[in-house]
Amino acid sequence: MSFSQLRLEGVGRRFTGTPALEELDLTISRGEFVALLGPSGCGKSTALNCVAGLIPLSSGRIWMDDRRVDVLPPERRGFGMVFQNYALFPHLTVRRNVEFGLRMRRLPKAEVTERTTRALELVHLEDQAGKLPGQLSGGQQQRVAIARAVVLEPSVVLMDEPLSNLDAKLRLEMRTEIRRLHQSLGLTTIYVTHDQEEALSMADRLVVLRQGRVQQIGTPEQLHSQPATWHVADFMGCRNLFPATAVGVSGRTVTVDVDGLRLRGSAAADLPQGERVAIGIRPEDIEVTTDPAGDGTVAATVSVVEYQGREFAVEALTGNGLRFHVRTSARLVPGDAVALRLPEQRLLVFPGGDDLPQPIAPLAEVTS
Ligand code: ATP
Repeated sequence: MSFSQLRLEGVGRRFTGTPALEELDLTISRGEFVALLGPSGCGKSTALNCVAGLIPLSSGRIWMDDRRVDVLPPERRGFGMVFQNYALFPHLTVRRNVEFGLRMRRLPKAEVTERTTRALELVHLEDQAGKLPGQLSGGQQQRVAIARAVVLEPSVVLMDEPLSNLDAKLRLEMRTEIRRLHQSLGLTTIYVTHDQEEALSMADRLVVLRQGRVQQIGTPEQLHSQPATWHVADFMGCRNLFPATAVGVSGRTVTVDVDGLRLRGSAAADLPQGERVAIGIRPEDIEVTTDPAGDGTVAATVSVVEYQGREFAVEALTGNGLRFHVRTSARLVPGDAVALRLPEQRLLVFPGGDDLPQPIAPLAEVTS
């Protein structure tokens, strides 16, 4: 089915009255790679299964241009699916698995053979065609599953955690492989994952979900540099998140009070003065100096140092008990007095900080 846009309009799904997905609005252009990202139970698979037609919608509509597809059964939507557990037929050879969908369509034998051979070549499995799935590695089996989906030349490919059963090295290889296939075949891909690195490295755009609701939709760069909520920031690896109060607001520049400490940061949206907020800064955005003077600088004592390849991951405690995670090339040891510079542009201020998880008490406090 040729199309230029797949559009989800207020798509929602309830299970016995409990919403698993609420009001998802999303427009995907042909050729785009969109990742649905979020923690376990946030509604990613539900969203994908709604698009696939495997579960009916409780609300909303799905369109391909001006054609409604949510009313069609799965087989008439023309979408390919790749699952986490491969879902291959164990008693059929690799070739038979891949050609299965083409045979079901009763295509001429020569065309079935030719398209299957091409799909197997695409995933570099032409020499494994006679084997059974059980004789292949996990990565090879997942490639068979991908070949089986793309052989049907689907208008959209839906992938649900396709790499989560593979070991770390293979996962990295398959990321590149899937991205290569997506590009070379001009596929439109919706990809479900809970792994933000995977999503950031593969997708053109990401949809971050939490408790069935969209937190943010954006490119990897947008989500990384301008997370809309502290949940997105948290998910994107921003480890220094603290509740605070906005005590001075001047446009998007906000002065916050964090347990008596005054800092200046940048808000993604307008915030009223006096509002409870969350502040966050990435470990790599904090500068470690020995000069405690100057704006945005906090005195702290190094508590933990971990060597991580070219850099050190350092934990430092401030006088008022804030625990900062920092990345630095400076050689520090526990007990060192340092100054942490928190650049205003990098210190992000988000609405609503009171639901931040409580920090775990430092080891020293637990044992004393
Ligand atoms: P995971 O990464 O763990 O697969 P997910 O983000 O894909 O999680 P979903 O599988 O979409 O999450 O589930 C969203 C919510 O809907 C969860 O609370 C889940 O328990 C619930 N849910 C999903 N499927 C059903 C079902 N068939 N019946 C009842 N509840 C369901």
